[in-house]
Amino acid sequence: MSEECIFCQIVAGEAEASVAYEDEATLAFMDLRQFQAGHTLIVPKRHVRDIYELDKKTGSALMAAISRVAEGVREAVRPHGITIWQSNGAPWQEVFHLHFHVLPRWREDGLLRFRPPRRKRPARSDLDDQAVRIRAALGGD
Ligand SMILES: [Zn+2]
Repeated sequence: MSEECIFCQIVAGEAEASVAYEDEATLAFMDLRQFQAGHTLIVPKRHVRDIYELDKKTGSALMAAISRVAEGVREAVRPHGITIWQSNGAPWQEVFHLHFHVLPRWREDGLLRFRPPRRKRPARSDLDDQAVRIRAALGGD
């Protein structure tokens, strides 16, 4: 636990939260600053700074919890859709305890501006180059 981490304080019961789901490794609670009603955060109970610090076991538990919470949000809130959202590094990550947003979506909800204004369509050779660089970084060929 990190003493100054608000999410660790929530996990420890030292800070207030509206808990929507809990299991051995994860906790889900309502985001204080919601884009939409039903906007939920899922965190690992142990302090993990970001996706780069995530171990496979905790990652598996998180994905299972995200899936469960998404089912709950869909049933309880009945949105048109759900976006799962996770950020790493400033300024995109505001709390440095790994967290995933489950964000209910409605058509015309105004959140479409999260899309980049125009997406590029790189040539296949560029996509192949990118994949080769990532594979090499992962220790592949
Ligand atoms: Zn923490």
